[in-house]
Amino acid sequence: MSTEETVELKDETGISGPTATDQQFEIPFKTPVKPVQYTLDDKFQFNCHKGIACFNKCCKSIEIQLTPYDILRLKKHFDMASKDFVARYTYPFEMDAHGMPGLRLTHKSGSTECIFLAEEGCSVYSDRPTACRYYALGNMGVRKKDSNVVENVYFMVKEDHCLGHYEPKTQTVREYLHEQGADVYDEFNKDWRDIIIKKRSSGPTIGKPSERSMQLFDMCSYDIDSFREFIRNPGFQNIFAVDQGTMQSLIENNEKLLKFAMRFLKQVLYGEKSIPVKAGAREQRLEERRDVLQARKQAEIEKHKTRAAFEDYIPD
Ligand code: SF4
Ligand code: SF4
Repeated sequence: MSTEETVELKDETGISGPTATDQQFEIPFKTPVKPVQYTLDDKFQFNCHKGIACFNKCCKSIEIQLTPYDILRLKKHFDMASKDFVARYTYPFEMDAHGMPGLRLTHKSGSTECIFLAEEGCSVYSDRPTACRYYALGNMGVRKKDSNVVENVYFMVKEDHCLGHYEPKTQTVREYLHEQGADVYDEFNKDWRDIIIKKRSSGPTIGKPSERSMQLFDMCSYDIDSFREFIRNPGFQNIFAVDQGTMQSLIENNEKLLKFAMRFLKQVLYGEKSIPVKAGAREQRLEERRDVLQARKQAEIEKHKTRAAFEDYIPD
């Protein structure tokens, strides 16, 4: 793939490191080696195992971005509410200049070491995040000019401390992702990644999403328990035509609920209608919101008046 064809490139792994040195990529971490792109069927040499001399080194200085499915798995691992997991084990950051909310895994107090690193290795291994499953592979969503299709490209992250690159094992990218369980994570993270890429590729001209959009993104992405309560609410059920059987299965199954949350986000953020709306719901909603909409309109007028008054102001 040539550079000219590329309009959107995005690091998906959340792997730590400094600024891009290669103009071909928007990789938000420094890499000492110019990345070589792989497809799913390309082979690479790598093996990580408990007996290796560098065991655990990669977990000692981390900056791992969490995906919605990472949070789902980890909250289940600890049998915690999503809000409590986020409060205890993550810290927020802004994914872009508009302040799209992101979460990273927290460190042990006063260090850069992962909070889940134990003497014997990863203490949450069966539910470790996507970035940990991928390492030492990286992944980017690539959208070609004039195309809505986001393709995955993969590359190796070669860091000096990692000796896995010298182990005599070769496998295809596909085999490695399957072995690590990353393919399952990718399936659940796919819609979320599409939402982020679409937001990024819309560019600055579209403007900053409203505060309400940001809050919905935050809830749907990182707080599945609140989203469950949200869809149980009559306010939601008065608008969306979701039958009782479907509603029950969403309430009982976190994986289904997460997929539904992404459909809901795509619908409210980008108008991709996949959840049917009840007949007359729009009119009823407009009627219910009339006062709020009127108040907002008035506030805009007042803001404009204030700005105009200030622009006319000439200091003595
Ligand atoms: S979650 Fe586990 S594998 Fe990932 S950085 Fe922490 S200790 Fe390492
Ligand atoms: S081989 Fe690489 S990924 Fe595996 S423990 Fe060593 S540093 Fe970490």
